[in-house]
Amino acid sequence: MKIETLAVHAGHGIDPATGAVAAPIYLSTTFERDADGSYSRGHMYSRNSNPNRQILETGIAALEGAETAAAFGSGMAAATAIFQSLNKSDHVLVHVDVYYGVIRVLHDVFAKWGLQVDLVDMTDLGAVKKAIQPNTKLIWTETPSNPLLRVVDLKAIAEIARTAGAITVCDNTWSPVIQRPLDAGIDIVHHSTTKYFGGHCDVLGGVLVAKENNEFFQRVRMVQYSAGAVPSPFDCWLVSRGMQTLPWRMRAHCQNALKVAQFLSGHDAIDRVHYPGLPNHSGHAIAQKQMSLFGGMMSIEVRGGQPAAMKVAANTKIFVRATSLGGVESLVEHRASIEGPATRSPESLLRLSIGLENADDLIEDLDQALKSP
Ligand SMILES: *Cc1c(COP(=O)(O)O)cnc(C)c1O
Repeated sequence: MKIETLAVHAGHGIDPATGAVAAPIYLSTTFERDADGSYSRGHMYSRNSNPNRQILETGIAALEGAETAAAFGSGMAAATAIFQSLNKSDHVLVHVDVYYGVIRVLHDVFAKWGLQVDLVDMTDLGAVKKAIQPNTKLIWTETPSNPLLRVVDLKAIAEIARTAGAITVCDNTWSPVIQRPLDAGIDIVHHSTTKYFGGHCDVLGGVLVAKENNEFFQRVRMVQYSAGAVPSPFDCWLVSRGMQTLPWRMRAHCQNALKVAQFLSGHDAIDRVHYPGLPNHSGHAIAQKQMSLFGGMMSIEVRGGQPAAMKVAANTKIFVRATSLGGVESLVEHRASIEGPATRSPESLLRLSIGLENADDLIEDLDQALKSP
């Protein structure tokens, strides 16, 4: 089945007890044992598993072409479960331009527990090979990256990791509709479902999706149910509902984003537009190879540095000044402000999450904000 059909049906089914077409929300924390002591209906206690979580995990695994998935209470809880599944003294190699929270948790929490962490620019494959250590257990990447929209060659990274005997994880928060890292040989996909999966800025969540339910992923699953950073049934329900419209929403996000990027790339008030769908983007060729759409996210460098960027953000009327991404409403954010002193974002950079408004209205809004005195 194709992705639109999977999104609507995978994991979902008619409720056998009532015939309900939309899944009921199963708030029960505990489930009845059979007379012989078994749990033939599959659930025992909601930290371990819950019907709504099962619907979500089955659906996302199907969309990524995966064997199994584990859902968490946030994207960072999912990332943390990966790091908690490693051993003391393991070496983790991380792409320099990944979501800043991942680097922060590695430095502030896991370095203290003995994980060794190095950052490397994964657009430079030679540098990745050089950074591999005998104890490199995990390679964490994200493409297009955040907020500079750099494109990492997933096939090449998977190949390097295979030679080194390391597990690869790709943060694919920008959705399986635009690329499927497991098809490129990546082992595990990470999602903040807070973003496009949820799609409406009203639920936090995270998911890990594995090509194979192997020994490492069973350890991840054990962290999920024993450490307990699990999503509530209602959170699972909201993300599952978001998932059903994800392919069609993504297409509209991407179509709008391309139009906006094309407009901005010719604008006098802008130095650079970072969007992998533009032919002059440094990662365009790889993006064409491994992505089926170029995504709903972009960043721009405003001429005149930080004050000019702040002024643009202050003057938009449709774009909302807020962090996060992937919702129906377009958002604008001065990324250096939220990332703090360790940021790698240029001070002139604004990140745009392109929503589902009409692209012409978005273009008009940005144009008036860029021109306002
Ligand atoms: C938001 C985000 C995260 C973190 O997820 P939370 O749900 O906020 O914990 C990780 N990676 C990317 C790419 C994100 O956008």
